[in-house]
Amino acid sequence: MLELLTERFSKAFAKVENSRKLTEKQINDFLREIRSALLESDADYDVVKDFLKRVREKALQEDITKKVSPFEHLLLTVYEELVKVLGETVSELKKGTVLFVGLQGTGKTTTIGKLAKYLKDKGFKVAVSSTDVRRPAAMLQLQRLAEKVGVPYYHFDEGLSALEIAKRSQAKAKEDGVDYLLLDTAGRLHIDEELMEELSSIKSAVSPSEVLYVADAMQGQEALRIAKVFHEKIGLTGAVLTKMDGDARGGVAFSLRSALGIPIKFVGVGEKLEDIEPFYPDRIAQRIMG
Ligand code: GDP
Repeated sequence: MLELLTERFSKAFAKVENSRKLTEKQINDFLREIRSALLESDADYDVVKDFLKRVREKALQEDITKKVSPFEHLLLTVYEELVKVLGETVSELKKGTVLFVGLQGTGKTTTIGKLAKYLKDKGFKVAVSSTDVRRPAAMLQLQRLAEKVGVPYYHFDEGLSALEIAKRSQAKAKEDGVDYLLLDTAGRLHIDEELMEELSSIKSAVSPSEVLYVADAMQGQEALRIAKVFHEKIGLTGAVLTKMDGDARGGVAFSLRSALGIPIKFVGVGEKLEDIEPFYPDRIAQRIMG
C-alpha cells in the first residue's frame, strides 16, 4: 500500500534532512522530486499542482518562533498539507438507503458485504438488496455474502425492473425498521447512457441517504475519470476506495477528495469481509511520509 510514495518521499526528505538552513533552491529541488513522485503515482495533475503551491508558500515562510528547525518546518508543512488534501475523516454513513455505484469488477458487491458486517457489528440493523437484474450471478454473490454476515437479503420475483426492486426494497426496509439498506446497482464494464438513466431514476425514487462510488485504487486516473462522470450525472456523497492493499502507487487516494470534492469514507484492504477500514487522512499521510 502506497509503497511508491513512501519510498520517494523518504528519499526527498533524506536529501535535506541534515541541512541547517534550507535555501529556496533546496526547497524547489525537494518539491520537484515530490512532484514527480506524485505524478508517477498517477495522481491528478491539478491536485498535485495546488498541493505543491501551498507547500511551497508555507515552506518558504520562515518559522518566526524558531521552535523547529527548517527541516522540521518542511516536514510539518508537508504533513499538514497532505492531511488537508486527503480530506477529513467522515466514515459515518447517514442512516437510510445507501446506493453503491461503480463499474463491474471494482469491488462493489464485496464492499457491500464488508460494510454490512461493519455496520452490523456496530449494532445497526442492516439489510441488503441488488438491482443488478442483468447479472443473476452478481445477485447471488450478494445473497451469499448476506448469509455469511447474517443480514437479510431482499429477494424478489424475477422479471422486476431495477427501479421496482429498489422501491420495494426500500418499502420492506421501512417495514422492518432497518437502519441501513445497502443497495447494489448494475455492474457494467463501461459507462453508458442507459446505466446512468437507470441510476438516476433509482436515485429520484428512493432519495438515498448516501450515494457511494466504489473506486478501484489500482485503476489510477481512470478511476478518477469515471468517478467524475458518475458525480456529474447522478451526484455522489462519498467514495469507497477498494484494493488499497494491492495499490503501490496511491494516486487515487491522494487525488479523489480534492479532484471531486467528495470524501473517501472507507478503504478496502483485502478480500475478506473484515478487510475494510474507515479512511483516516492522518494515518495515510503518516504512511506516505514513511
Ligand atoms: P463488483 O463487480 O464491483 O461487484 O466486484 P466484486 O465485489 O465482485 O469484486 C471483484 C474482485 O475484487 C473480487 O475478486 C474481490 O475479492 C476483489 N476485491 C474487492 N475488494 C477488494 C480489496 O479491498 N482488496 C483486494 N485485494 N481485493 C478486493
